[in-house]
Amino acid sequence: NGLKKYFPITGGIFGKKTGEVKAVDDISFFVKKGETLGIVGESGCGKSTTGRLLMRLIEASDGRILFEDKEITSMTKSELRKTRRDIQMVFQDPYASLNPRHSIGKILEEPLIVHGIGTKEERKKRVQEMLDIVGLSSYHARRYPHQFSGGQRQRIGIAKALMTKPKLIIADEPVSALDVSIQAQVLNLMKDIQNEFQLTYLFIAHDLGVVRHISDRVGVMYLGRLIELSDSEELYNNPLHPYTKALLSAVPIADPEIKRERITISGEIPSPSNPPSGCAFHTRCPECMDMCKTTRPEYRSIDGHYVACHLYKN
Ligand code: SF4
Ligand code: MG
Repeated sequence: NGLKKYFPITGGIFGKKTGEVKAVDDISFFVKKGETLGIVGESGCGKSTTGRLLMRLIEASDGRILFEDKEITSMTKSELRKTRRDIQMVFQDPYASLNPRHSIGKILEEPLIVHGIGTKEERKKRVQEMLDIVGLSSYHARRYPHQFSGGQRQRIGIAKALMTKPKLIIADEPVSALDVSIQAQVLNLMKDIQNEFQLTYLFIAHDLGVVRHISDRVGVMYLGRLIELSDSEELYNNPLHPYTKALLSAVPIADPEIKRERITISGEIPSPSNPPSGCAFHTRCPECMDMCKTTRPEYRSIDGHYVACHLYKN
């Protein structure tokens, strides 16, 4: 709620603060239990920062984060540690998140040790269960990360996230580094696991095509702001924000009957350290009006379809 993350920019010999990067600039959203909320945007839009803020891997500059009935933002370190059992992350590059010197068995056991869960025997059993669930075998526990393919490593990353029986998984571009043929397998695995364990997903991606099939609702970010959010089908069939329209026009459609005009957005994405005034998208928007240059559009709901754009006013 009202989440912000401003990173200071320092310069000069005294390291004085010379500015700030508004990586996340006043965003609000909720994720319903059991659903998948997709968050989409170009690199640098603040989507990964948002995921890390929710887990308090980095601290918010402002705003509140609530999980079930608990406020994460005001938790002490020990309360936060307990809550982290319930919220786990899956990262884009599984290789970087797996210690190359540890066997898969040891890597998977670690979250249980950190949280003081189970006896040695119970932990071993859970490692085997989880390997089985993600489509690997118990003999893989003795192997090392470099002995696996990219897709297998991401399966291990998912198994690791599941070890503490979390309720919410924040997946930050979990399939972006994988070959297209492997992406579908990992996405299907994530869907199956979600059903089996009644998991809630926050699924971060830069590709609208990827989130479409896994998300119940989708939010679009641009320069640290959430600019549109709605049910997945509604967003794909009836995008409101000019930026979402442009992003969608670049996604290929399987049905040759449907013609979608390709909208090209001109110019580069502006720097988040110097975002445009008013609507952050105004420098590239084909429908820009005078007021867009000076007034930031409010993020408002039109029958549950959220949008921040001056074109939509009651
Ligand atoms: Fe375009 Fe104006 Fe809407 Fe921003 S507020 S997206 S500039 S029409
Ligand atoms: Mg990222």
